[in-house]
This record gives sequence, structure tokens and C-alpha cells, in this order.
Amino acid sequence: MARRGIIGGNWKMHLQLGEAEARARGVRNHLSSRGPDPEVVIFPPAPFLAPVARQLRESRVGLGAQDLHSEDKGAYTGAVSGGMLTSVGCSHVLIGHSERRHVFGDSHDAVAAKLRAALRHDLRPVLCVGEQLEERETGRTEAVIATQLSTALQGLGGNALSTLVIAYEPVWAIGTGKTATPALAQAVHAAIRGWLAERFSAAFAADMRIQYGGSVKPANAAELLAQPDIDGALVGGASLKVDDFIAITRAWRG
Ligand code: PEP
Repeated sequence: MARRGIIGGNWKMHLQLGEAEARARGVRNHLSSRGPDPEVVIFPPAPFLAPVARQLRESRVGLGAQDLHSEDKGAYTGAVSGGMLTSVGCSHVLIGHSERRHVFGDSHDAVAAKLRAALRHDLRPVLCVGEQLEERETGRTEAVIATQLSTALQGLGGNALSTLVIAYEPVWAIGTGKTATPALAQAVHAAIRGWLAERFSAAFAADMRIQYGGSVKPANAAELLAQPDIDGALVGGASLKVDDFIAITRAWRG
């Protein structure tokens, strides 16, 4: 069966409240009259999750958080738990985004713990993986991604991971304007699917949705999304413009 596409909009640390609400309304209004494909999820900054949830009520646009803490509660000043996210209407959460790994220093262990916290709270995790430029240039792309996947998924069975989405985001392409060529992205997506087939099963790998992220925009979305192993996009900068984000959702081949 064909995999359902998934397009995410990661707003990072941008916008003020009114701007976030207006963009959420814009996305909802554009998508309300269309069918169920692809799945669309927006990831606003944490303070805007509840007000954006109100804008998305009874729409087909999902709401996701950009991060969560691995513990359910406690003395963790500044952190947000999985239970808090579900209580304001989140259905998804990004795990191990490259900015969390490389700017905030989230380790493999931290990523694994956050993934488990998401699953405990029935949040659908979008696990981000990807190599840095120097890792690509030294031929280590697949090894780096295999380590990111194996450390995050260690000890988890396919059943526990039925809601997992993987986002391949080469770090050198995030927010830089440099996009992986469709062929390059397709090759890594196929390698990820191959890794999943070996580690889990061919059926698990065939069902897994793998998004591409890294300077996706209306001009390059269709070509990337046409690749057989690319099941959607995780969009940063272009998701801040409603028209651009909607154009990317319409580029889905489904
Ligand atoms: C991202 O934030 O996940 C991302 C891919 O950003 P951009 O589209 O701006 O490269």
C-alpha cells in the first residue's frame, strides 16, 4: 500500500503570538477543502501551542511540538513534558532535530530518552537524523545515520514504533539554502529503509514514512517528493510563509 505523505512545518523560534495564530488560520483555511492527503502538521514554538491548537480545532492540520523533556514532571526549569504537550492538543513531537543535537547538545542518550517519553504519552515522534558536512565529505553519512537510528531505537520493537516518522535532514542543508539533490536524498532514504529492513523487518521498513528536510521550497518540492523513498518534507524557513507552505503540501505526489 502507498505510504501517506506527511508535510511538517517547523517554525523554530520565530513569530509573535498574533503572527503564529494568523499563519495557523491561513494553513487551516487553505487545506480545509482538500482531501485527507498529505498529512500536514505544524510545529510552533512552545508558548504558541495552545492558541494555535484553538485555531486548528476541527481542521485536518495536526499540531506538534519542537522538543520535549524526557521526564514526566519535576524540577526541570524551562522544560516541557509530554503530558503537558498532549494536554494542549499536540499529536506529534520532533525528536533529535539537528539544532537540538548540535546547538543544545542533545546526546544520543538524550534523544533516546525523549523518544521513549513521546511514546509513553502517545505523541507521534518525528525522529530527525542527518549528517554534518564534514561527515558527508569523509564518506561517513550512512554510518552516522545508522548510529543515530540504532541509539534512538535500541530495545524498541516494531509494534511500539508504529507511529514513528523519520526525517532525514542533512545538517549542511538546513537553513542554508543548499538542498540535497533529489538523487542524493533518495539514496540516503533508500539506505535508511534498508537499515530498517535489517533491524526490524521488510514490512516495517516498507511502511515507514521518511521525510526529507533541508531548504525545501515550492521550487524544489515536487522533484524531491517524486522520489520513491521520500514520503514528505519537514520544512523550516518556507513554512513561515503560508503560500509557500501550502504550495509544498500541493507538491505531494499522492
Ligand atoms: C528544519 O528546520 O527542519 C529545516 C529543514 O529547515 P529549512 O527548511 O529552513 O532548511
